[in-house]
Amino acid sequence: MVWRNLRIAILLLILGIAAWSNWYDRLSTTDWDETLRVGVFPIADSDNEVTHDYIARLPAASVADIEQFLNGEARRHGVVIARPVSVELYPPVAEKPPERTADGVLQNMWWSLRLRMYARRAVRAAGRRPPQIRVFVRYHDPSFTRTVPHSVGLQKGLVGVVHAFADRQMTRTNNVVIAHEILHTLGASDKYDPATLAPLYPTGYAEPELEPPYPQSAAEIMAGRYAIDSHTFQIPESLDEVLVGPATALEIRWTRP
Ligand SMILES: [Zn+2]
Repeated sequence: MVWRNLRIAILLLILGIAAWSNWYDRLSTTDWDETLRVGVFPIADSDNEVTHDYIARLPAASVADIEQFLNGEARRHGVVIARPVSVELYPPVAEKPPERTADGVLQNMWWSLRLRMYARRAVRAAGRRPPQIRVFVRYHDPSFTRTVPHSVGLQKGLVGVVHAFADRQMTRTNNVVIAHEILHTLGASDKYDPATLAPLYPTGYAEPELEPPYPQSAAEIMAGRYAIDSHTFQIPESLDEVLVGPATALEIRWTRP
């Protein structure tokens, strides 16, 4: 009986710590009173020269437009500190993140736990001040891979895994995906119809108040596409064609209800 109670107590303690740490992470990453540090860690997913070469030559400035975009949008939504977000490129990571094998509550918990441990290991290996948000970018060689798996961003764990293309001409579109997953880690939700990929109206529109609503001139970051007319949706080529809409700004607490 004592052992049983003790086991239950330990289990409750672990669950309590997990709940507290998720709550603390959510609060400390979305209070916007000091710079939130985001680290981007490249990984050569295709083990060939093109991919390794691309990663080795990635300049630190290759992620600059992500920081510029997030800080510009934060300011537009009323965040007052000078640099709400810093986005830094870290050295490449050799080990790949754990794969999500099967769907199911337990399998997902196990995968997310392994992903957190992986992130901690990878960040420690970089030997620099650890960022609060860790985004692992798996680069694929576009001449072998036409479509890549879905990217993810987890608020519980503050980790993102992005699938991207090792091609200089795609750096700017890769950065749209990286920014999208960063915002997921801050609590933003997707704003497109998963069946048709159409942006949801009004939350998935960068300018929902536009009358008539078409054509939109930019995509809402969590919608991924913007409406030219009621059935034509355009993928942005860079963050220059993307905005953070009011619904996302509210979710990540740039604005308050
Ligand atoms: Zn998403």
